[in-house]
Amino acid sequence: MPAVHSVCVLPGDGIGPEVIEPAVAVLKQVAGQAGMDVRLQYESIGGDALDRFGVPLPKSTLLACRASDAVLLGAVGGPKWDSNLPDLRPEKGLLNIRKGLGLYGNLRPVRQIPSLLQCSTLKPEVVDGVDLVVVRELTGGLYFGKPRGIYGANGHEIGMNSMVYHRREIDRIARKAFALARLRRKKVTSVDKANVLEVSRLWRQVVTETHRVFSDVELNHQYVDNCAMQMVLRPAQFDVILTENTFGDILSDIGAVLTGSIGTLPSASIGDGLALYEPVHGSAPDIAGKNLANPIGAIGCVAMMFEMSFGRPDLAARITEAVDAVLDQGYRTRDLLQAGGTEVGTGEFAVRVQEQIAGVAAARSS
Ligand code: NAD
Repeated sequence: MPAVHSVCVLPGDGIGPEVIEPAVAVLKQVAGQAGMDVRLQYESIGGDALDRFGVPLPKSTLLACRASDAVLLGAVGGPKWDSNLPDLRPEKGLLNIRKGLGLYGNLRPVRQIPSLLQCSTLKPEVVDGVDLVVVRELTGGLYFGKPRGIYGANGHEIGMNSMVYHRREIDRIARKAFALARLRRKKVTSVDKANVLEVSRLWRQVVTETHRVFSDVELNHQYVDNCAMQMVLRPAQFDVILTENTFGDILSDIGAVLTGSIGTLPSASIGDGLALYEPVHGSAPDIAGKNLANPIGAIGCVAMMFEMSFGRPDLAARITEAVDAVLDQGYRTRDLLQAGGTEVGTGEFAVRVQEQIAGVAAARSS
């Protein structure tokens, strides 16, 4: 009997469906090669769900996700819904699904693909060899802490947010980071602002305590301002960067600069059960419907799914190697195009990845 895996697919808005379609094609292809039975269920989220059901996250979507082994999401948002009330914005669907699935950590791998060395705005010798993962706490800190709001009136208003962390929240994300580091180069850099913030002092204390059961992993601490500088100065020094929600939001976007295009980056949101995989980019309304979207981030999500949710790092590597090979051959979507490269659309790039995967499998079986 083949292993059965169920995946809930949420294409979303803008370029979301455009990049999810080729990613699903790769998922089906690789699963088929490996004799795995992957069952897909498509559901609605974001602006698409607002148009169809009047809410950004229908209950049916959440229930379908909970019943799955993994979730694959495209992107949400777009100008059509920008003037909606806060609870009726597409992005609310994203926050609610993370909360509803208990996803408290976000993993963003940033790997410099050799043939894209010239695509970064940073010098090739700076980005050469970059292979890091940002582990960001996702459900605590400034974005969720209370009290929050705008108080007062008539020229005396006060805007307020609170960065709040409980020991338990710090410990569980630190454990994820250390466990991940064990599978990599065994080095964690914990990022905080402990020279100024009390919440960061607790963060540093708990991370240091949790580290005692992961003493085979090297731990160092950096202040967030220094880390931001180090990420553009000497990014290859990092293996796993562990940080809280707001700092992670900002630092992980530097990753897009390192690789050359935000379109190349996958991510996984994790908790203690199933994981949700989504490319780092948004719905890119400026290029939606134009066959310009780079599908590498979405295809990378499928690779992460094989590794993390299905326990098949070999199949993840097969996908990553195929993407690298197509880039080596000079095929690029417009965001990565350089002199001498061959421009291809979203679907054409993905077809070449699939041909590569098929070719490798055929060579192995002959
Ligand atoms: P964006 O990531 O959508 O786009 C930023 C820039 O990167 C644009 O120039 C876009 O064309 C380009 N880009 C993004 N993905 C690309 C790809 N795969 N290939 C080629 N180029 C790509 O961010 P934005 O413009 O700030 O936001 C647009 C909408 O997306 C907003 O409604 C925002 O709220 C939403 N958003 C959603 C998510 C998500 O669903 N996770 C994340 C960020 C933004």
